[in-house]
Amino acid sequence: MSEKFDTPFQSNIVPTILELGSTLKFRCYKGISCFNACCKNADITLTPYDIIRLKQRLGKSSAELLKEHTVPFQMDQDGLPGVKLRTTDEGACLFMNEEGCSVYEDRPTACRYYPLGNMIRLDTGSKEAHVDYVLIKEDHCKGHEEERELTVHEYLVEQETAQYDEMNKEWQQLMLMKRSGGPSVGKPPEATLQMYFMCAFDMDRFRRFVLSDNFKATYDLEESTYEVLAKEDISLMQFGNRLMKQVFFGLRTIPEKNGIWEKRVDERQEVWDARRQAEIQRQQQAEDERYSGDD
Ligand code: SF4
Ligand code: SF4
Repeated sequence: MSEKFDTPFQSNIVPTILELGSTLKFRCYKGISCFNACCKNADITLTPYDIIRLKQRLGKSSAELLKEHTVPFQMDQDGLPGVKLRTTDEGACLFMNEEGCSVYEDRPTACRYYPLGNMIRLDTGSKEAHVDYVLIKEDHCKGHEEERELTVHEYLVEQETAQYDEMNKEWQQLMLMKRSGGPSVGKPPEATLQMYFMCAFDMDRFRRFVLSDNFKATYDLEESTYEVLAKEDISLMQFGNRLMKQVFFGLRTIPEKNGIWEKRVDERQEVWDARRQAEIQRQQQAEDERYSGDD
């Protein structure tokens, strides 16, 4: 199963852009000649919500799940950390067994979508993200040779993607903002990247961080909010998205204790300016090199 979430354009894949009402011919079932072929070659990027579903399913802490079932990778040129499902050396997903998927009800977003992928984009001037769907046809997947025809929407309903889409929305928006931010964001320092990894994927550690005295001394939250964050993974994930929007882009939705933000802005203004300038120069240099190569 090749990468199917948000970055489906790989050399051996021919993408076709689809809308919700577009039709596809596809059927996958136990007993099809290629059964499990996709999961024997798994390249699955995980979302924060995928991590929550899997860790709850397996009764593991986020640290255990990350260690046993994922591998880290860099999501962009700034080294933004992401995680993929761990596989055997041959590429088979560790959750695959003879019956199929051992975590089927909690399988990750990308597995639900397959053979569809989705690509989120922000149109110029719009605040609403637009979703394009792509059909991924791989030689080993015989589901495309089946006679059943249905719409993209019908397929997604069948695969129960709605809750995943809802839960992934804020995180995808954060990724989009990061991607389209360009020089105004710059390359985040290592400590920020590590904090992002903790907020997005290592939620048990993030919970300890949020409940620490240090955090409470910085942010001005009601005790009832801390009580919710202490026990609810989804609320914690959503809070993490807000916190990272605040850290990456200065979008203040989490109140800080008096004067702390202003003090931090004063302290960091120079650093932000320098980072922005360095990023503009880096992009300018890359452009110059590109065009000088065209001569
Ligand atoms: S999680 Fe399940 S569906 Fe996804 S690759 Fe692994 S075995 Fe296949
Ligand atoms: S039809 Fe495609 S998705 Fe289904 S088991 Fe075969 S390779 Fe996997």
